[in-house]
Amino acid sequence: MVTVLAVVALAAAGCGDSDDDADGSSSTSSSNATEVGNEQFTPIVGAVEFAPVPFEGSDGKVHLVYELSVTNFTSGSTKIEGLKILDEGSGRAVGELTGDALNSRVQPAGSRDGTDVLDAGQAATIFLHVTLDKDATVPDKLIHEVSVNAEAAPPGQNRITERLGEVDVDDRTLPVLSAPLRGERYIAADGCCDAVRHTRAILPVDGQTYVAQRYAIDYEQADEEFKIFTGDPKDPKNYEIFGKEVYAVADGTVVGTKNDLPEQEPGTFPSGISLQDADGNYVVLDIGNGFYVNYAHMQPGSVKPKVGDKVTKGDVIGLVGNTGNSVAPHLHLHVMNGPSPLASQGLPAVYDKFSVTAQVASTADFDASEGTGIPLKLVPGLSPSDHEDEMILDQNLVTFTD
Ligand SMILES: [Zn+2]
Repeated sequence: MVTVLAVVALAAAGCGDSDDDADGSSSTSSSNATEVGNEQFTPIVGAVEFAPVPFEGSDGKVHLVYELSVTNFTSGSTKIEGLKILDEGSGRAVGELTGDALNSRVQPAGSRDGTDVLDAGQAATIFLHVTLDKDATVPDKLIHEVSVNAEAAPPGQNRITERLGEVDVDDRTLPVLSAPLRGERYIAADGCCDAVRHTRAILPVDGQTYVAQRYAIDYEQADEEFKIFTGDPKDPKNYEIFGKEVYAVADGTVVGTKNDLPEQEPGTFPSGISLQDADGNYVVLDIGNGFYVNYAHMQPGSVKPKVGDKVTKGDVIGLVGNTGNSVAPHLHLHVMNGPSPLASQGLPAVYDKFSVTAQVASTADFDASEGTGIPLKLVPGLSPSDHEDEMILDQNLVTFTD
């Protein structure tokens, strides 16, 4: 039955399959510059809805982080067997995913579980991360080549290689931020570029999807023994970062703020928090050129700036707390393209000056330390390094000296 439907779809489109391989088992299409008569049946359709913005990370590499939205537009299941990210100009592959590496990045709408098989009509987001050497040429334009096995294709033509999601790389100039905190051993938890909790937090808001937290960092802090807290985990005061001053990372104007939400007991996420209260006591700063900075979860009463106030880089804007949807005291910070912490797209930014003194071994090790108070497990043998104008990456332990 599904095969019949697919054949009907092809017949209705009036197209042949003139690029068939000799054995007729596969076809290749190019979604851009299709010549009349060369149109192809492409079970997966999609687009990149927010273009990647390249930036340099603390690993000295250039990163592009973005999502390819796809829909299996057929009446049968379609397995995505491989995905190549191509420099559209040169045809060179700048990324390639198969197997588990691909599967883990394909997130069906409404799910956090990876899959490589899309059911009939199912939509998904493929979370992509391209890493390039610092001196490599950053493509002007990307296109995606996916190899699929589509149940609802004409007999013998189930395996299809198709192209979709052509996108111009966004080369806007990024803001250079100063330190949001001061001191040693701040942990950049759930940071760029593959952190499930932020980078993949795609939200349907106001009629479309947004990834406001695409580049968000949850800053926590370790003591000299690399413990995030000591003593009773339910007392926010026992966390190393609690009460630390939070600084304006750039000159800006306050466009959103909240100051009256109560501290939550750490250890478990609070229940019954509304979408609007998820950030707890927060400040959104308009820092110009279409960039906005969101600071979340600060202490009640500590957020002094009011909407309309101008702040200067280095001004104290609040104290680290545990308000809103927070499991432990931390500073959530992200940069975005609009004033709403939810209905905006996350943008990258770099920090003017910081040192990386260590690296937490994994997110699981971070979670274990945050959950139980055991010392952080660190990557052994890492030499401290000083950085300028780079993004702080996931699980870096950083010192801010400003
Ligand atoms: Zn966060």
